Amino acid sequence: MRSLLVTNIGELVTADPAWGEGPLGIRHNAALVIDDRRVEWIGRAADAPAADARLDADGAAVLPGFVDSHSHLVFAGDRAPEFAARMGGQPYTGGGIRTTVGATRAADDEQLRTNVARLRNEALRQGTTTMEIKSGYGLSVADEARSLRVAREFSVETTFLGAHVVPAEYADRTDDYVSLVCGPMLTAARSAGARWIDVFCERGAFDADHSRAILTVGADAGLGVRIHANQLTEGPGVQLAVELNAASADHCTHLSAADIAALAGSATVATLLPGAEFSTRSPYPPARALIDAGATVALATDCNPGSSYTTSMPFCIALAVREMAMTPAEAVLAATRGGAAALRRRDIGHLTVGARGDLVVLDAPSYVHLAYRPGVPLTTTVVLNGELV
Ligand SMILES: [Zn+2]
Repeated sequence: MRSLLVTNIGELVTADPAWGEGPLGIRHNAALVIDDRRVEWIGRAADAPAADARLDADGAAVLPGFVDSHSHLVFAGDRAPEFAARMGGQPYTGGGIRTTVGATRAADDEQLRTNVARLRNEALRQGTTTMEIKSGYGLSVADEARSLRVAREFSVETTFLGAHVVPAEYADRTDDYVSLVCGPMLTAARSAGARWIDVFCERGAFDADHSRAILTVGADAGLGVRIHANQLTEGPGVQLAVELNAASADHCTHLSAADIAALAGSATVATLLPGAEFSTRSPYPPARALIDAGATVALATDCNPGSSYTTSMPFCIALAVREMAMTPAEAVLAATRGGAAALRRRDIGHLTVGARGDLVVLDAPSYVHLAYRPGVPLTTTVVLNGELV
């Protein structure tokens, strides 16, 4: 594989304080070489060695590729009318998930694949080099398995979310549905290559006992654990995530002081999804309190057709800074290294020697512009796994 020199980097964000100034480990007038898909060398642009190919950043900022650790890309249809109604004053309850389940079951594999490809490419153009993808709009053994097979064509970080909601045909038979999820559906999800298991632990979805049962069986089967926790109410999800040593508790919108303390004292990442609060006109999660308490925070899009139909990590960074009192540096760290931690990955989310060759060149002199210039397409070049996209 050809080596790639990226040089004349005005501001290199390594996302590792051991490799430069401040929490983002910043270097100025820098260069780096990617060889065999890994960062092989970092130094001053003036000392840059030769390589097979050369990318001149012309003084711009270069960041690690964004790590979006929470998305629901496998679905059909959209829910624009529901969004419009909500913006007209109707509350969000999560009930619209069943609308998407119907459309997803009716779609063929090729329609699902085409939709995932469109959204994955949309994210990549904005700098997302790693994207977790969940199932959860099939909710039958066959439809969950094919959702995961399609997801696996686009990412190794695939998550089995059979416990998204109880499908209509199991109304008032939640125990039976949980047995299905823990039995044949989990077996099918494993054969389809799922790496993670997730549960929507929320009033109207799955309670603490059902969630614990599903996640425990999944963990015993070798899947990593993540939870949709405390999105709509101050529920048991966060405490359950910590109890089960989940990689991530996602949403974390309504947290008690005990929830914040539990996250801060654990290896569970608090993954914040401000696109969901934006799109449901809800209060934002307490990022400041989490960071001040010492919790590891990630930012992700939650891309889905109901409550957060965005693939844009820069948009989430801008929201986190403007609405959640995060500094631009904290938000960028959460969108890169934080996302990697939420996926228990050490090879991505930073640009240091040995890291995977995933990076973003901005049409801006500093990472600060991601929040300072919201809504502007600043990503000019993306390198994915050592190759120019
Ligand atoms: Zn979600």
